[in-house]
Amino acid sequence: MNTTDLKFELLAAGYRRISTHEVNIGGVALGGLNPIRIQSMTNTDTLNTKATIEQSIRMIEAGCEYVRITAPGIKEAENLKAIRVGLRKAGYQTPLIADIHYNPKAAEIAAQYVEKVRINPGNYTDRKTGKLDFSDVEYQNEIEKIRERLKPLIEICKLNGTAMRIGSNHGSLSERIMSRYGDTPMGMAIAAMEFITICEDLGFQNLIVSMKASNPRVMVEATRLIVALMNANGTCYPLHLGVTEAGDAAEGRVKSAAGICCLLEDGVGDTIRVSLTEDPEKELPVAKHIVDRYNNRLNSDSSEKVILSINPFSFSKRLTRSCGIIGGPNLPVVISSQPEPDNTTFKPDLVLNLSKTENSIPPYTFISITQPALLSEGVLTQLMTNPNSVLIAEGKDDQTPLWYRSIFNELIKLNINVPVLLKKIYETKNPEAFLVQSGADMGTLFADGLGDGIWLESTDPLIKKRLVETTFSILQATRSRISQTEFISCPSCGRTLYNIQDALAKVKAATRHLKGLKVAVMGCVVNGPGEMADADYGYVGSGKGKVNLYRGKELVLKNIEEEQAVEQLVDLIKGDGKWVDVKS
Ligand code: SF4
Repeated sequence: MNTTDLKFELLAAGYRRISTHEVNIGGVALGGLNPIRIQSMTNTDTLNTKATIEQSIRMIEAGCEYVRITAPGIKEAENLKAIRVGLRKAGYQTPLIADIHYNPKAAEIAAQYVEKVRINPGNYTDRKTGKLDFSDVEYQNEIEKIRERLKPLIEICKLNGTAMRIGSNHGSLSERIMSRYGDTPMGMAIAAMEFITICEDLGFQNLIVSMKASNPRVMVEATRLIVALMNANGTCYPLHLGVTEAGDAAEGRVKSAAGICCLLEDGVGDTIRVSLTEDPEKELPVAKHIVDRYNNRLNSDSSEKVILSINPFSFSKRLTRSCGIIGGPNLPVVISSQPEPDNTTFKPDLVLNLSKTENSIPPYTFISITQPALLSEGVLTQLMTNPNSVLIAEGKDDQTPLWYRSIFNELIKLNINVPVLLKKIYETKNPEAFLVQSGADMGTLFADGLGDGIWLESTDPLIKKRLVETTFSILQATRSRISQTEFISCPSCGRTLYNIQDALAKVKAATRHLKGLKVAVMGCVVNGPGEMADADYGYVGSGKGKVNLYRGKELVLKNIEEEQAVEQLVDLIKGDGKWVDVKS
């Protein structure tokens, strides 16, 4: 499908939520102009009623507005009833969501007990058979099979007032979709549209849609495509946003904020889930930092809407001229005003201390602006005529990505290819809020190829020590500059049979220095191998204390003991000639 007929507005001013179809989920309405809701998912065994109820309560107490629970089989789906009863007895009315893969029967059972079911269009009915080509007739026959298989679920949902999320994941698309679109953002969006069409034909519109990927750029592009396709179709259903397998710690927070906020800035997104390889209750403060940025400015922006003139559906870095190590083909630079680097691993490319009068440091002439309106005729002429000029867009704490986009919009309109450094001074004293805010601000811009460098500042002494490291994380999260190993790890769920948090820590400790390599740590063999996307190596739980190791999508070692798995992963990487010693 050609994207030239599709429309998606990237805002450069005039923030507004896009209007979506409102869906009632157990009395907590989603979409329309309701606040952006936050949700998370349990990682206990769904058959362990007590543990699942206790964890759900911890999540609800931390701010979770919908609790999602995996139901891999019929027994787990049946047990959702007991979990629901237990939670209600304990005084918690929070709506529950069943997470279903591969098992329509489990979905039909769960839909009777919970307020929403999530199904994956890639595996609801389709199975892997190795078929690579589908004639038009075969393709249509497959759609008819899906229609027949969805009918009973839709009837149960109608009867019980249950909502349904159609959740496409990068890496788990059907062979039918792959045969036409590949594992692409368009494939993810079309897969969901096919299910939406069937639901609408059957008179069911209690729908929510999501497009998830571990790569924020893929997730952003797929979500923009599905919004454009739904709008063209007449009804835009509420959007659930999330970066899957985002990992843990600072990297997981920055990556999640970059992907999710890149869409929220354009008013897209009605509920979010931050997926971290940590206890689920730790995801909720991060999610709250994110939604607070938008729920607090909900339609409060009365300024005129301005559209950024770049292609929303295809990533391309803004082309700039180079000056020294900034702009042109150079990697985005990391700037610091502190003479001493944060630590020995992460060093800034340039240490700058500019005053109002001294902004010329050969070969650079730095021109700072603190408001888009300061792009006066004189400044624009200087940017155009001085080949050494570098623009610094210097925002204060309350300036949003749209503020920076409005500067880029002016430069793009006037065809000025000056390199731009994005500078921002943060006032928060909360380290987690800082990670979210900086990931959201800078990640949003770099996910769209805007910016030639980042310069973060903080008024807090502790945060000051992490500025350079955070900047490298933002560039890595948006795949703008790879400086360390890329870790992809799932948050785990009731399918996980080993301690994934410990495993991730061990894998990170052993392989963190392998710059550019992508290593996945996944909780189960059912979805793990598919959803680790483009990882070079996969460490995937295959049973109690057992691990499978993958090279790309190829299963190399099966059911090895967890105690030896990290060592064997290192041996595998060494055997492939991709190992480097820490100090080399
Ligand atoms: S990959 Fe992880 S989160 Fe996804 S189903 Fe498996 S264990 Fe659960």
